[in-house]
Formats: sequence, C-alpha cells, structure tokens
Amino acid sequence: MLLDALKADLAELDARSLKRVRRGLDTPCGPHARVNGRDMLAFCSNDYLGLAAEPELARALQTGAKRWGSGSGASHLVSGHYTIHDTLEARLAVFVGCERALYFSTGYMANTGTIPALVGRGDAIFADRLNHASLVDGALLSRAELHRYPHADVAALERALAASSAKRKLIVTDSVFSMDGDVAPLAALLELAERFDAWLMVDDAHGFGVLGPEGRGALREAGLASWRLIYVGTLGKAAGVSGAFVAGQADVVEWLMQKARTYIFTTGASPALAAALLKSLELIENGESRRAQLAGLIAQLHTELKLERWQLMPSRTPIQPVLIGDNAEAVAAARALWDTGLWVPAIRPPTVPQGSARLRISLTAAHSSDDVHRLAQTLMQLEHGA
Ligand SMILES: *Cc1c(COP(=O)(O)O)cnc(C)c1O
Repeated sequence: MLLDALKADLAELDARSLKRVRRGLDTPCGPHARVNGRDMLAFCSNDYLGLAAEPELARALQTGAKRWGSGSGASHLVSGHYTIHDTLEARLAVFVGCERALYFSTGYMANTGTIPALVGRGDAIFADRLNHASLVDGALLSRAELHRYPHADVAALERALAASSAKRKLIVTDSVFSMDGDVAPLAALLELAERFDAWLMVDDAHGFGVLGPEGRGALREAGLASWRLIYVGTLGKAAGVSGAFVAGQADVVEWLMQKARTYIFTTGASPALAAALLKSLELIENGESRRAQLAGLIAQLHTELKLERWQLMPSRTPIQPVLIGDNAEAVAAARALWDTGLWVPAIRPPTVPQGSARLRISLTAAHSSDDVHRLAQTLMQLEHGA
C-alpha cells in the first residue's frame, strides 16, 4: 500500500531524528522573536541588513499595492510584466555593474531555470561540491554531465576542465558558501573559465547587499567583469523582500528570457513587490551604517568567543559557523542554547560533510553588541559543560 509505505518512511525519519518541524513566529523577522509562545534571541535568519521588517520597506510595499494591486495576473511573457518590473531590472543591472538583469520570483527558480537554458546534453557542468541545492537541481534538470569538484579546489577544477571534451562548459559556484561562510576563489575561477572557454555562473545569494562597495556583491568586491560571468542575486536575504535576478551581458540575459522555463511558465511576481524592491535597493546602496554594524558584530564575535574543542570557523561574512563535529553533540548544543532563549540551528550531514556537524550562527545588522556578547558567553559556558 502506497500510503502505508509513506507512513513507515515518515516514522523512520522520526526514529532517526531527521524529521523537520517548523517553528511558528508570532513577531516580524528580527533578532527578538516570539516563537511558540517564548521570547527568543534568534541567530538564524538571512536578513543580514535587518531590512525584512524595516518600516520604510513595508510602506513601499503598501504604496506599491495601492498603485498596482496585489497580483500580476499572468506570466511575464503573456501579460504579467509591468513597467515597474522594467524599472527594477534596469536598476538591478546598474547596481551590480552588468548590462541587463532578469527578475525571477525566487532564487531557486533563477538557478533551476538558468542552468538548463545555458547547457544541455553533450555539455558539461563543473560545480563546487558545497554549492546550494538549487544549483545542483538546475544541473540535474539540464541533463548536462555534472562534475562536482572538491570545495574551492581550483587545481581539481582545472584538471576536470582540461579532461573534458564537452561542447559547452559551465562552471557554477556559490560566492559565499551557505554553511561555511567562506568566499569562493572567484578571480581564479574566472581565469579558468577564460582559459577553457566556459561560462562562469556565480550565485551571490549571501553576498548581494553585504559584500563589495555599497553592497554591490561579490563580483564587484573582487573587481571582476566579463561577458562570461552570469551573476545571480537573491532578494529575500539581505534585500529583505523576495525574488531574485540574473544579470550579465545583454544577449545572455535575452536568451534566458527566451529559454528559462522557470521564468516563462510561472505567474509574474506581484508588481507591488517590485515597488518594495526598488526601495530596498536604495536602502542597500545607502546602507553603509548597516554594513558597518554587521562588520563590527562579526569582529566582536571573533574577539569574544574563545573556544577549546569547538571551533569558530574563519569566516568574514555574516555566516559564522561553530564547528562541533559530532552530530549528537551539535544537536545537544542547539537544544541547550534554545533552553536559555538563544535560537541557533544545528546543521548535520547530509547538509554538511560527515563529522562536521556545526552550529550555524548568522549575524545581522539588527543584532546589538549585547546580543552577540550574550551568545558568546553562553556558548563558552556550554562548551565547558559539554
Ligand atoms: C537561499 C539561496 C538560494 C535560493 O534563493 P530563494 O530566493 O530563497 O529561493 C539560492 N542559492 C543560495 C546559495 C541560497 O543561499
């Protein structure tokens, strides 16, 4: 019986402590959250600049809804594309320094639509082993041959590229890796892309708004530009709204608009969201004090958190993992933190490699120095007691 088998599979997930539950927040996104009736200090959102609950953005969303209504009514290529979408795409392209940008409903859709539009059977994809699931899924959908190279291993990538006789080649990487917080060797990757005539697609979900001058992202920080570069920025993290965009050379973006199935066969995102996103771009561009606050908190965590067995990983981004190693110990640490009112997720295999279970702290500009102090003190006490 199909349903009996499914019930048994669910029970097995539960038995292996792999069954996920959702926690219901009763307050807007922010460090101080009411969760399941408890007041928690949260270190788990990707709202790096603290914009998700920013009143100015909520007002822009209201104004947008007044002007445009709530829905787009159709897919972009039918009749669901509005002039405010054009304005948003033009602003996004200028902001990251590319010729053109295409706005998608989510980052997951941007990635799963873009990769199959660029490569297919007979082609090859070269992907960092720690890339985000949406890039892996996009690669699988494309039916191109998938080579996964060891994390950030430029020499291994070079060997794989040299050995490939694929017609078209695509290198794909996260800019900031979501479970480690480290930044990909982007200049070296572009050099390889040039040498082996490959596209280089960079998913800047955790860098857009945070890295580079005025938060213009990882490519601008690294000073890289090329028609080979395909830039993906997501708008639900530092930008505090939702959606994503792919930016690059104008013909490349035109091709994506013609071919990306996750762009074509879906209803356009609400034009009111585009109004909020235009405001968000303004706040990001003028967000120097938010980025300075964030950088200060990252430095504070590294100064204050002195661990012996556990290890604060060497990340300069808002993603600040504490490596624990053992699965049960990581889960116990997360539970003990929760019991003291601190919300930090434990990340276990298969999300991270075996033996590298960790706590994933993410810091935002909405945290205070007191918040980080409390986190560091509690973690040091827990490590001693563990
Ligand atoms: C969050 C994330 C995505 C997906 O973006 P959504 O807009 O949330 O769908 C893609 N890539 C990376 C690296 C991410 O962290």
